[in-house]
Amino acid sequence: MTDPQTTNQQLFDSARDLMPGGVNSPVRAFGSVGGTPAFMVSAEGPHLTDAEGTQYVDLVGSWGPALLGHKHPRVIEAVHAAVDAGLGFGTSHPSETRLAELVRSRVPGAEMIRMVSTGTEATMTAIRLARGATGRNLVVKFAGCYHGHSDGLLAAAGSGVATLGLPGSAGVTEAQASETIVVEYNDQEALEQVFAERGNDVAAVITEATPANMGVVPPAEGFNAFLREITERHGALMIFDEVMTGFRITEAGYWGASGRTEGWTPDLFTFGKVIGGGLPTAAVAGRRDVMEHLAPTGPVYHAGTLSGNPVAMAAGVATLEHATSEVYQHIDRQAEVVASALGQALDAAGVDHSIQKVGSLFSLAFGTSATGVKDYAAAQAQETFRYGPFFHAMLQAGVYLPPSVFEAWFLSAAHDDGAVQRIVDALPAAAEAAAA
Ligand code: PLP
Repeated sequence: MTDPQTTNQQLFDSARDLMPGGVNSPVRAFGSVGGTPAFMVSAEGPHLTDAEGTQYVDLVGSWGPALLGHKHPRVIEAVHAAVDAGLGFGTSHPSETRLAELVRSRVPGAEMIRMVSTGTEATMTAIRLARGATGRNLVVKFAGCYHGHSDGLLAAAGSGVATLGLPGSAGVTEAQASETIVVEYNDQEALEQVFAERGNDVAAVITEATPANMGVVPPAEGFNAFLREITERHGALMIFDEVMTGFRITEAGYWGASGRTEGWTPDLFTFGKVIGGGLPTAAVAGRRDVMEHLAPTGPVYHAGTLSGNPVAMAAGVATLEHATSEVYQHIDRQAEVVASALGQALDAAGVDHSIQKVGSLFSLAFGTSATGVKDYAAAQAQETFRYGPFFHAMLQAGVYLPPSVFEAWFLSAAHDDGAVQRIVDALPAAAEAAAA
């Protein structure tokens, strides 16, 4: 238990001495908003409570997994039962098949599934699989799309036509980066040009189903269908990264953004976040003939000590079993209330902005009303300096937002009208802070 006298500042000081930046994932350090991170000690329903006893309405949702809200009784019950049976067996067991069945039953095209532990591992494995299945080396990704932190996928710099990726992180070699081509999002012409020049070498195009890591950026009408068509035309695979959107975006069902597509399916999907119900699980899924290239049926290696861990499977199964269409309708409704109150508060304070929204996922971009945000260049050009004061005014009022303007806001089934009202009530003062 945390000492009740310990402050967030004391905890941050100790953490910074022990861990780079005091964190285990960079955005948690509050670098772009400033100030001292709140050190959370418990979570329940729509709330987080920090070490000082302050309770917040949570709009981060553990970065996506908490679809049902924190500590959902059925999920906790399933996890307890799994723990009682043993933390892990290092063997096959029934609940990994159950989770795979649940994914397949809701995702057309997810014919086979391989469980992994993180979204990073899922996309890394999908890329290796695409290279192994096609015998080609190049991967095309879009600027501003985040697919985890494996070397080749960190190449995000550059924009425009067929930009050869430069290392997006120190420690990524030029050789690795040169096998990733970065194209501006929503730019069909740029992609046509890449394929015209190097189409025979492209193993895969990887895209977020709906980008939500440069803020939310809706795909232009027909863009995902175009990706399907051009990859098929050139014998490359299409990898639909649904780590963020899978089992969250629901406009035409309740299985993820791919449920919105009509008449076509990607070759491979990646899932994470919601399918682990708050514990570390992610997955690669897709066409049977491609998936069977994975070891042991095929020559593409992937393995994991904790892949398909029974406690994580139990959390994922319980979450998907309780992720009914009513849950999604509730989240969509509450997201609509928050997003429109946000727009009204910013309008009233005279703050130029756009709200980028797809289903229940949305984010805020300052100073972009004239153009909206359709790609990474536009996302980066926004008035980011307004977000720090906005964020801290919300925090002060007991609302925990993502500590970066480039992150989406997550609601859950547990965000009842009371929690939403607390968010709505906090917005006018935060909008004034952003205006200053
Ligand atoms: N892909 C997408 C679309 C993501 O949003 C993320 C994480 O936010 C990842 C992959 C990486 O997942 P993880 O953080 O579990 O490695």
